[in-house]
Amino acid sequence: MNTFEFVPAHSVAEAGELLTANEAPAKIFAGGTDLLGEIKQGVAHPARLVSLQSIAALRGIALGDDGARIGAMTTIAEIAAHPQIRTRYTALAEAADSVATPQIRNTGTLGGNLCQRPRCWYYRSPMFDCRKKGGARCFAHDGANKFHAIFDGAICPAVHPSDTAVALTALDAQVATESADGARLLSMQDFFAAPGVDVTSENALRPDEILTAVIIPPTTTNLRSVYLKAKERQAMDFALASVALAVEIADDTIISARIALGGVAPVPYRAHSAESAMLSKGISDIDAEHIGRLAVEGATPLTDNAYKVRLASSLVSRAVRTLLSSE
Ligand SMILES: Cc1cc2nc3c(=O)[nH]c(=O)nc-3n(C[C@H](O)[C@H](O)[C@H](O)COP(=O)(O)OP(=O)(O)OC[C@H]3O[C@@H](n4cnc5c(N)ncnc54)[C@H](O)[C@@H]3O)c2cc1C
Ligand code: SF4
Repeated sequence: MNTFEFVPAHSVAEAGELLTANEAPAKIFAGGTDLLGEIKQGVAHPARLVSLQSIAALRGIALGDDGARIGAMTTIAEIAAHPQIRTRYTALAEAADSVATPQIRNTGTLGGNLCQRPRCWYYRSPMFDCRKKGGARCFAHDGANKFHAIFDGAICPAVHPSDTAVALTALDAQVATESADGARLLSMQDFFAAPGVDVTSENALRPDEILTAVIIPPTTTNLRSVYLKAKERQAMDFALASVALAVEIADDTIISARIALGGVAPVPYRAHSAESAMLSKGISDIDAEHIGRLAVEGATPLTDNAYKVRLASSLVSRAVRTLLSSE
């Protein structure tokens, strides 16, 4: 492991300054559960870690009439256990519950979960200088790609590993950031960046920009949401495929529907045509199998991952049945 200095920041502004104070590469340290792995694996080489752990303003969950605000340093375990998150934003609580192990959920933070790096085994090995590390080629295209993307993988088919990102996309959340240039509020779609934008990054954060909070719009009594995740092992594991579905139902009619898929694309994938097929339909008119098929329309699987098409389709159908049959 290379040596690095560990510097606690006491405010977001100070963290931004520490990140860009000198030429040497610096990284934000939240819980460290992903970053320390990258350093040990020899794929990240920061000279400085800027810790956010002393910044109290980045912690906590606040719910009000204007929705929910979750600080970036709030742990995954706190989100999973929060009674109002569980009832109002069920998909998020279920996604948080599905992350890793209790130890990682107790240490890992929401900001770190959204900014974690992909798990592609070529990326995680210092032996492969792939596109994501600035190299010229993708080793997964002609190599082992069982866990890779079935959508939008032409440049880099590494999938985004975050469970909470998928739930937050379905819940129409926004990401709040701060840097020397000021504060920004980004939709999940604008926060996550497809490989075509910059293959070496998965999000739109600038070098001194810090994710400070996630904002979720207010719920109505009509909102129902669910998160389902398929894993290779029932113990701790990343998603082979996952789905978050959020619907609003009034007078037995679907008045809004958002479907996000995880484990199938470099960023959380919105199944727009499946959403449209649900809109303005009566609950009894919805064909869950049809919605599942629509959700995977246009998939382009690689040599080893065609199984994901059927898997993702089945998960969507199951999510539809789960929500439309619940009280
Ligand atoms: C064995 C194992 C299993 C796992 N399983 C799952 C799983 O099933 N599902 C899942 O979703 N995740 C899983 N993870 C990932 C885990 O959830 C994340 O590692 C954790 O949530 C990251 O949070 P952290 O606070 O530890 O981030 P860190 O490791 O501290 O940071 C991760 C990255 O985000 C950046 N970063 C952190 N916070 C901010 C911020 N506020 N602003 C800007 N950049 C920031 C860091 O610089 C770093 O690049 C697993 C990890 C391990 C080690
Ligand atoms: S899928 Fe992406 S991260 Fe993996 S080898 Fe290809 S370019 Fe690298």
